[in-house]
Amino acid sequence: MPTLTVLLFHRIADGLDRPSDIDGRLFLRCLERVRAVAVPVQTLAEAARAPAGTSEDAICLTFDDGWESDATVALPALARMDARATFFITTGHVGTPSFLSWPQVRELAESGMELGSHTCSHPDLTQLAPDELRRELRASREELQERLGRSVDTLSIPHGIYSHRVLAEAVDAGYARVCVSRPGQNPLPLRAGRPVRRNALHRGVGEPDLAHLVRPDRATLLRWQMSYTGRAVLRRVLSDAQYARVRGAATAYLARGRARR
Ligand SMILES: [Zn+2]
Repeated sequence: MPTLTVLLFHRIADGLDRPSDIDGRLFLRCLERVRAVAVPVQTLAEAARAPAGTSEDAICLTFDDGWESDATVALPALARMDARATFFITTGHVGTPSFLSWPQVRELAESGMELGSHTCSHPDLTQLAPDELRRELRASREELQERLGRSVDTLSIPHGIYSHRVLAEAVDAGYARVCVSRPGQNPLPLRAGRPVRRNALHRGVGEPDLAHLVRPDRATLLRWQMSYTGRAVLRRVLSDAQYARVRGAATAYLARGRARR
């Protein structure tokens, strides 16, 4: 069965210490890996149009949060390899320091990129009252559609934390596709209502991961899934500040281990 591999990036920046940041060199190495395989690099909307009976694998690159590096680093690099990607915007962060401005969001759209919603304020959606949940999902979509003059049909769940209620509300708000942060491959064609799994690139990623980025083998997927599950458990039991400290320390430890090898 053909599969869709979806990669997840956050901010691309050198010398920063958020665990989800990756430096510019690692980002370019990822793109080289992607370019080396002979499958189309598409937006999620394009991949979703794969016809029944398709036999072709596909790769999508996705970028969460709407960091300024989407326009200053990712866009020029994607243009050089003639690839398209999907960018998820937290509408309430647009125009604030380190994030995209509205003209930059428009520039992405005009360059052939897909723009999706990452909600208004990036909350844990499972913790919201029903009317707040509806507002986060609908107001962000409506603002993007209004400003870009095009339909916005893809959602990325903040922090990757979701529930059946969140998924049902997203479908109700008009989203055709919902991206999560759980690692894995997606069978093509995409099935309606089934969350899209993504493999995240972050500071803890090393050379062995890069080798399996595009077509992860079973052992790599299992390792990524165990790491994801561990992080999800920690996120549930720790406060945001405690979680950030633990994840930062773990990432630094892994980076030191790689430097020694
Ligand atoms: Zn996010």
